[in-house]
Amino acid sequence: MRYANVIVNISQGRVDRTFSYIIPPELENFIHVGSPVRVPFGRREIHGYVIGFTDQVDLPQEKMREILCVDEKSVPLEDQLIRLALWMKETYGCTMNQALKTVLPTRRKVKKRTQDPEISLLPDHEVPALNPEQQRAADGIWAEIHRKEPRPCLLYGITGSGKTEVYMDLISRIIAEGKQAILLIPEISLTFQNVRRFCSRFGDRVGVMHSRLSAGEKYENLEKARKGELDLIIGPRSALFAPFPDLGLIIVDEEHESSYHSDTSPRYKAPETAIKRAQLAGAGVVLGSATPSMESFLAAMDRRYAIFTLRHRAVPGSELPDVTITDMREELRSGNKHIFSRLLAQEIGERLENGEQIMLFLNRRGYSGFISCRSCGTVMKCPHCDVSLTFHVGRRLVCHYCGYTTPMPETCPVCGSPYIAGFGTGTQKVEGLTKKMFPRARVLRMDMDTTSRKNSHEKLLASFAKGEADILIGTQMIVKGHDFPRVTLVGILAADLSLYVNDFRSAERTFQLLTQAAGRAGRAGKSGHVVIQTYTPDHYAIETASRQDYIAFYKQEMLYRELMHYPPAGNMMRILIQDPDEQAAAAFAANIASLVRRDYKMEHPVIVGPAEAGISRVQDQFRQLLFIKHEDPELLRRIRDRVEALEGCARQIEVL
Ligand code: ADP
Ligand code: ZN
Ligand code: ZN
Repeated sequence: MRYANVIVNISQGRVDRTFSYIIPPELENFIHVGSPVRVPFGRREIHGYVIGFTDQVDLPQEKMREILCVDEKSVPLEDQLIRLALWMKETYGCTMNQALKTVLPTRRKVKKRTQDPEISLLPDHEVPALNPEQQRAADGIWAEIHRKEPRPCLLYGITGSGKTEVYMDLISRIIAEGKQAILLIPEISLTFQNVRRFCSRFGDRVGVMHSRLSAGEKYENLEKARKGELDLIIGPRSALFAPFPDLGLIIVDEEHESSYHSDTSPRYKAPETAIKRAQLAGAGVVLGSATPSMESFLAAMDRRYAIFTLRHRAVPGSELPDVTITDMREELRSGNKHIFSRLLAQEIGERLENGEQIMLFLNRRGYSGFISCRSCGTVMKCPHCDVSLTFHVGRRLVCHYCGYTTPMPETCPVCGSPYIAGFGTGTQKVEGLTKKMFPRARVLRMDMDTTSRKNSHEKLLASFAKGEADILIGTQMIVKGHDFPRVTLVGILAADLSLYVNDFRSAERTFQLLTQAAGRAGRAGKSGHVVIQTYTPDHYAIETASRQDYIAFYKQEMLYRELMHYPPAGNMMRILIQDPDEQAAAAFAANIASLVRRDYKMEHPVIVGPAEAGISRVQDQFRQLLFIKHEDPELLRRIRDRVEALEGCARQIEVL
């Protein structure tokens, strides 16, 4: 006897289990995975979805109830997306409801249309022919995705090597086959300049899922995709679930980006999930980057992925920029206390003379613009979190963890001294000093404060691209998204700050940031120069980034990961325990550690911690961390499910 497993009340997210129902013979041909059905439930009659079948049930046959009918009014769920949700539930440890809600579009009405800046359509002859290197990559990928068991393709191409043209070539071939494609781009790079290239090539059969769209507009795009009215969807990680009828290709651009990792449940990683979705759909998948994640490059070295390389810049005559490292300790010793090294200051002056543009990139990870009392040393902290408050425009102090905000006090709340001051946010400080040193330069600043309004990010970048300013100052944000042909100098301030973030991926992130930032210089045939200012010139992440030598970085970093059994050399799981009671959190964390030590003794998992988290309190919750390492990811998942089921404090578990 075959029963249907039905999940009910998806929208409420409370009931997270399936119920088995008898399939009446007259419905046998109409019930599939994904069918919307009506079923008896207690004394009511409710809506549900079939998500699988079973021949074993707990109840005796006479207690089992029948599916009433197939619900004609609802859309059937894509079979593939349900299978994907099941895989996400197992892989990332969330409830089936959470997984389903992530993969299924939420039905919303369009209330107001988002006004988009004009996307001017360029005529098609503007499409450059692929150069030989690009052609080889495109043909190689095309062959791979048509193999019987295609592997994921890694397109490793230096900055400016023209990966986008390769994507477009592949997409047009997929469309010619009558199939559809998904292109994932990090939200921050979803600028009109980038999207315009696709719209001009593929016309109005392109759907763009940027964050400025309302929920209704997003739903409308997904419906068009389902009905076959679109060939291509471009968007951030959630665009991965576009319900195309015949998906042929998924491309993940800048696959190393951390924004592809969801930070709410299900904590899925979009590149990995893209590979699974492609496999279920029988589609190809391309991961592209100038600085591939350690995971992806190792997979390519192990031949689990096929790798294709672009070694040269695409624009004829454009070369990788020259990079100089300046040692800021040396500068200080020679009496230079400015934020710019002598070399960088001199070069800024020269470029301004020549009417060329400059980008100053502040590596802000780990940097806090905190406020302190010069008399007693008190630092202004958030009353709910273990972090210092950050100074913002309008003389307000803001907690970046919980959003708590308070006016900047006039005097020190502890000793009453009036000498209480901040150092501004990093970018504001750099802006002030730059204007002082180069009073005639037109300076633009881009950070959270200047870009919090809709479209302002876009407007600032467009204005700089048009040459309305000489110097653009910003954080990670300015690294992505636009081509600035007139930029011939990139200054990277405080290159090493991100090395000290307490995370085993900090060297990798630093290398990525520096390489991407350096890659902004000299894009259009002019020679570019990059100056990296650092206090640790000998660190391999900085040294290899200055040579734009990914392979050298990868080798060094892999040694470290192997030594420490960090991913991708090993598997690791992080358990974060949170509780308003400090003791309770610590006790529960210790319990988990001893339980794992006792019950999994034979498998020898490595347990690190528990210990207080780097930020020990957020929103009045005390935080304890515990890491478990083991070579077998399956074992970690078993431990995860076990820990998930325990009674006790709130916890977040993530396989890293
Ligand atoms: P990437 O994404 O690899 O950093 P892009 O795709 O943004 O590089 O391309 C960099 C620049 O090279 C763009 O201005 C693009 O128009 C140009 N370009 C790409 N391919 C070609 C080509 N075959 N011939 C001429 N220019 C090209
Ligand atoms: Zn004080
Ligand atoms: Zn706070």
